[in-house]
Amino acid sequence: MSQEDPSAGRRKRKPYIAANWKMNLDRNQALDMIKTLKARLGDGDDREVAVFAPAVYLADVAAVSQGSPIGLGAQNMHWEENGAFTGEISALMLRGVGVDRVLIGHSERRHLFFEKDEWMGRKIRAALDHDILPTLCVGETIEERKAGKAQEVIARQLKTGLEWAQAIEMSRVTIAYEPVWAIGTGETATPDQAGEAHGMIRDWISDRFGAEVADDLRILYGGSVKADNVKELMAVEGVDGVLVGGASLQPDAILPIIEFDK
Ligand code: PEP
Repeated sequence: MSQEDPSAGRRKRKPYIAANWKMNLDRNQALDMIKTLKARLGDGDDREVAVFAPAVYLADVAAVSQGSPIGLGAQNMHWEENGAFTGEISALMLRGVGVDRVLIGHSERRHLFFEKDEWMGRKIRAALDHDILPTLCVGETIEERKAGKAQEVIARQLKTGLEWAQAIEMSRVTIAYEPVWAIGTGETATPDQAGEAHGMIRDWISDRFGAEVADDLRILYGGSVKADNVKELMAVEGVDGVLVGGASLQPDAILPIIEFDK
């Protein structure tokens, strides 16, 4: 990117709308949803759309979404290929059912299931090794924000999550900034708060991997994104897409987000 045109990087980063269904939707609802998205989306040229479905539906959703540009993601994975890890799913298994991406370190995994920071680095490494695109989720709790520690927490999550990634692989990585206090609460980060966090993340990536990597990296915002705030958030410098939970569960809620400026 030239020094004279700071928005050039932004223009080349394709907007990315990611739907995290969490532990929601029954099988028929999941398949209906993917059929609706497939029918409605065009060729995916001007924006990227992906669905992070519950693991038990991934194979079926893959079959239905085949032939469409919709990406299919898992909500978590283990870093080993196989072994005595009851309840876990490996990158190898995900690849085998047509999954092409995965969320790593979602705040619900970190805070409700006590997944450790250092696990995320191993998971990102395993995803990259198995040709699965990882989205590393980072973000501070309200206590951490109030204590003035938001940036420190995000930096630690970036450091541990990207510990084993190399600059040349970073074009396959996405970062999602998801302040924990905004997830599922109806409270959204203000444009200033989002802009500040995204700027800090891009600067951190630039220091660690170089300016070119930082310029190409897509950083999503997640936390109570809805049809009526998506445009404002997407207008923030450094916000390249959104990760949507609650509002991704009904076509009427997610379609206007996907088509936010149309
Ligand atoms: C999420 O699950 O990543 C999320 C951002 O949820 P919500 O949109 O419901 O806040």
